[in-house]
Amino acid sequence: DLYNRLIELKGNIRVFCRCRPMNAQELEAGDAMVVEFESAKDGEIVVKGHVSSKKVFRFDSVFTPEENQELVFEKTAPLATSVLDGYNVCIFAYGQTGTGKTFTMEGTQDERGVNFRTLEELFRVIREREGLFRYELTVSVLEVYNEQIRDLLQPSGAAPKRLEIKQQAGAHHVPGLVEAPVSNLGEAWGVLQAGSKARVVGSTNANEHSSRSHCMHCVMVRGENLVSGEHTTSKLWLIDLAGSERVAKTDAQGERLKEAQSINKSLSALGDVISALATKSPHIPFRNSKLTHLLQDSLSGDSKTLMFVQISPNEHDVGETLCSLNFASRVR
Ligand code: ADP
Ligand code: MG
Repeated sequence: DLYNRLIELKGNIRVFCRCRPMNAQELEAGDAMVVEFESAKDGEIVVKGHVSSKKVFRFDSVFTPEENQELVFEKTAPLATSVLDGYNVCIFAYGQTGTGKTFTMEGTQDERGVNFRTLEELFRVIREREGLFRYELTVSVLEVYNEQIRDLLQPSGAAPKRLEIKQQAGAHHVPGLVEAPVSNLGEAWGVLQAGSKARVVGSTNANEHSSRSHCMHCVMVRGENLVSGEHTTSKLWLIDLAGSERVAKTDAQGERLKEAQSINKSLSALGDVISALATKSPHIPFRNSKLTHLLQDSLSGDSKTLMFVQISPNEHDVGETLCSLNFASRVR
């Protein structure tokens, strides 16, 4: 159909830009907005840099601060649900801490994000296809912190396992990683929530910890076409990346420096891998970080990738905003 033809024409990598609103504190302080959305409908966003210079960036979609979760999901749904057709899919939120990565992916109780809406839509389509297809879903939740993988679904009380990526019959997997079977939205969301809870256990500052680690949800789909008997296995990754902000050299010492270096390493590896995929480079440097190594199968071949580049409209964040937009333009 037309949608699939468009995908073929455009390649399988999409970048959406989303700008958060100014918050109460910024409005009160009278901070200026440096981001303009006049041609957001055409995927363009303009950033006023220093000394009256303007820089234009183009993306597959641009979401203004007024555009809500529902609209964002409307554009995301076709890609996310293609996991039920046997495609591997990766959805990332990238950007400086405080720009809405968690808001976009996890959302809030009142304003559900991509994760919840995706699960809801998957189970809706599965019901719709009953009698034609049979699906089995499992969910994993893990985190990558300082280049170490942590299973957030392992039973509480169990000694933390050091997880490693192994290659077996050409496929990469993580032996020992919990894959929880789920058969409806309530179960699946329950598992994701349990993972989020486990994430903050043992960290003295939950917010800081979550901005310095990558939070990864994986939905594994085993599908059977009841008419043709064909079987498919595919994965959907939903990833809230660590904050992309640069850390001042003077601020970073000891543990903080190590964290900053790990984040830097994995985010630049991700940028390198996606841009190598976009340009169909013969060598894709998956092995340069745990994040890209873990996602190797899901990013290569016939898979689909969507990156949300999250930005702030505030004049004080313009340096990081330009860095994020440049990063995202490179992977597109
Ligand atoms: P990050 O995960 O990138 O650090 P958060 O998702 O925690 O950022 O967002 C920071 C704050 O801004 C939160 O209070 C969040 O609810 C709010 N926020 C972010 N994006 C939006 C948006 N599009 N609309 C309304 N509030 C938002
Ligand atoms: Mg966050």
